[in-house]
Amino acid sequence: MDSTIDLPQRTEVVIVGAGPTGLALAVTLAAAGVDFVILDRQAEGANTSRAAVVHARTLEVLDELGAAEELIAHGIQVSRFAIRDGSRRLLTLPFDNLPTPYPYALMVPQYVTESVLLARLRDLGGHVHRPYEITSVVQDEDGVKLAMNTGDTVHAAYVVGADGMHSAVREAAGIGFTGSAYAESFVLADVLMDWAPGHSEVSLTFAAAGLAVVAPLPGGHYRVVVTVDNAPAQPDLALVQRLLDERTPGQARVTELIWSSRFRVHHRVADHYRAGRLFLAGDAAHVHSPAGGQGMNTGIQDAYALGRAFATRQLNGYEAQRRPVAQRVVAFTHRMTRIATTRNPTARAARNIALPVLARLGLSTKIATELAELNYR
Ligand SMILES: Cc1cc2nc3c(=O)[nH]c(=O)nc-3n(C[C@H](O)[C@H](O)[C@H](O)COP(=O)(O)OP(=O)(O)OC[C@H]3O[C@@H](n4cnc5c(N)ncnc54)[C@H](O)[C@@H]3O)c2cc1C
Repeated sequence: MDSTIDLPQRTEVVIVGAGPTGLALAVTLAAAGVDFVILDRQAEGANTSRAAVVHARTLEVLDELGAAEELIAHGIQVSRFAIRDGSRRLLTLPFDNLPTPYPYALMVPQYVTESVLLARLRDLGGHVHRPYEITSVVQDEDGVKLAMNTGDTVHAAYVVGADGMHSAVREAAGIGFTGSAYAESFVLADVLMDWAPGHSEVSLTFAAAGLAVVAPLPGGHYRVVVTVDNAPAQPDLALVQRLLDERTPGQARVTELIWSSRFRVHHRVADHYRAGRLFLAGDAAHVHSPAGGQGMNTGIQDAYALGRAFATRQLNGYEAQRRPVAQRVVAFTHRMTRIATTRNPTARAARNIALPVLARLGLSTKIATELAELNYR
């Protein structure tokens, strides 16, 4: 068990947080032979499905890390995103002609992605130290001292905050997290249901009441994400059915609710990715709308870039390489979310005319390339 291995008191790099970003960074460092410690305040990894899409560029990175094949074996491959207003198809975003060995979106729950990364880390001899919560981070010119809620301390040359949206490392570094929150909340549910469009596409439906995303998951499950003004803490089956009836009339018959949650979405980017010996990656550095499913993907790619920067001692380039990507992803998903959720009838009519025109202009593949993050190799 990871928890029985003593926490080292000194190391080169401490990774705070063993979500997908921290784990991907740990695998990158382990593969490169860089000395590191990864720790997390949770006694065990999360088991909720959260991020459900792994895009092509992330699979390319996971291939470099020796984890793509295993992950692909656990997921299902979807070749397109379909955008509709009610039952009218406005635009199809095709992934099957993208220039990559992975011309699809892989649908797989986040806990599976985390467990594949953890298995790869163990193959490489690495361990996650749990449960250790960082309570203070102090740096000087010689290194960084981390204190934990257990009374333990670790000294490191560098610390990476892969500790999510409320990052303690970002706080300790005094780095601002500029942006704001969306007014709507999101209902999220994994369900079993009869779904007319079927299991081969991700469907984004615009409706006067708001956006509904339905995405296939392994095991015949579907992920449903719906925007609402005020979601209850535990959305139930009846609510999910009602929301789908309202936005996708006659398309869905929900038979079982497997898991549900609600969340509020922010769009923010850290003002810097580095302060001296402290670095940020993943949700600690950027958060945005789940439209397009890019949060975890961008985090895993940050992790790989930062891991390679440690391995090659090119740390100065990390912020310049990765922060503009987050700014672009945040701007792109913000635009998509505003277009999808507008209630202004004139804006909706203009959108419904404009989207099919984009398809006729041949821009669908360009948008799919942006979503798959293949512009950021
Ligand atoms: C409901 C929901 C749905 C989502 N859907 C999608 C989607 O469809 N597609 C997508 O790409 N993304 C989605 N996301 C976003 C995605 O889950 C995140 O982008 C992803 O989890 C970020 O990974 P991370 O490793 O950077 O941070 P996290 O997953 O937040 O991991 C941070 C880790 O740090 C640990 N930690 C925090 N503070 C401390 C501390 N002080 N000391 C020690 N450990 C600490 C935490 O325990 C946690 O394990 C969704 C998020 C939510 C909430």
